[in-house]
Amino acid sequence: MTNLIDLRSDTLTRPTPDMRAAMARAEVGDDVYGEDPTVRALEERVAGLFGHEDALFTPTGSMANVLAVRTLVGPGEEVLCESSAHIARAELGAHAAYTGLTMRTWSHPRGGVDLPAVERMFAPDMGPFFVRTKAVSVENTHNFAGGTVLPLADLDALHAFTSAQGIGLHVDGARIWNAHVATGTPLSAYGARAEVMAVCLSKGLGAPVGSLVVGSAEAMAESRVWRKRMGGGMRQVGILAAAGLHALDHHVERLAEDHEHARLLAEACGVDPEQVETNIVVLERSDAAELVEAASAEGIRISTVGPRTVRLVTHLGIDREDAQRAATVLAKLTS
Ligand SMILES: *Cc1c(COP(=O)(O)O)cnc(C)c1O
Repeated sequence: MTNLIDLRSDTLTRPTPDMRAAMARAEVGDDVYGEDPTVRALEERVAGLFGHEDALFTPTGSMANVLAVRTLVGPGEEVLCESSAHIARAELGAHAAYTGLTMRTWSHPRGGVDLPAVERMFAPDMGPFFVRTKAVSVENTHNFAGGTVLPLADLDALHAFTSAQGIGLHVDGARIWNAHVATGTPLSAYGARAEVMAVCLSKGLGAPVGSLVVGSAEAMAESRVWRKRMGGGMRQVGILAAAGLHALDHHVERLAEDHEHARLLAEACGVDPEQVETNIVVLERSDAAELVEAASAEGIRISTVGPRTVRLVTHLGIDREDAQRAATVLAKLTS
């Protein structure tokens, strides 16, 4: 029996021995008192990478997104986003449930920005008549669109619009590291085009747990209160922050390997590898469920993210040999 090759998600990574050693060594304190030095080091480092004043460690990316968006949008106000955005589709309505905001969406085949649609939807303060738009949210890279990178020029144009209207721009950067490695765009360039961001350490970077909100000192102070209110105040959590620091030191540049493996899988499945920018391959298949089943029987785990959509994700736990074996099996099953 050969090893199972798990391509369902890049959240499936397990901490490496070196990462575990870093976690074991971590200096810790009570982070609700602001006394965990490892958490502070991580927050300061990530804030610095994106050129923002501060950052806040959270247990999940979903919590980071809820906290981030709520610094810009209040109850009864709206955020505009793409229709398959994680905040709209995959956070179980958290933004509505916790913040009480509403969303309106545009659709884009690659999960990108449709600026004319945003301009049409944007609603300024019209008193007691219409829901007021307070922010626009974009995802980079875009998960359900297949790990697509949001072109910097599009982000730039959107940010020029939101700034001119006096509203905020939120970037769900769960996989911003992949966009950075795929394009060479500095993280600070992404940071400069957002009021607030959410970034994950627990996807391709391979940390077991952890995300951060990134933004102004004021927004982070407010988010610290809301994090506690939501039950996300953690104590000696430097053990987890140490995993994040280790990931930033050792697991960012290697994302290029994941991207290469994803292109290899795409080619095997008859998807144009040129369309695969990062670590996610999406297949449109009428036999989606059967393909998942057949792959599983051969030790390759993949998953559906829609009735006719199959998703393959490469990550730290997949080496060249795994990718090649998966490609051979999937080429046979999809031919
Ligand atoms: C995974 C992910 C998140 C956060 O997910 P959690 O499971 O809550 O950590 C947010 N946005 C995108 C695009 C994601 O892929």
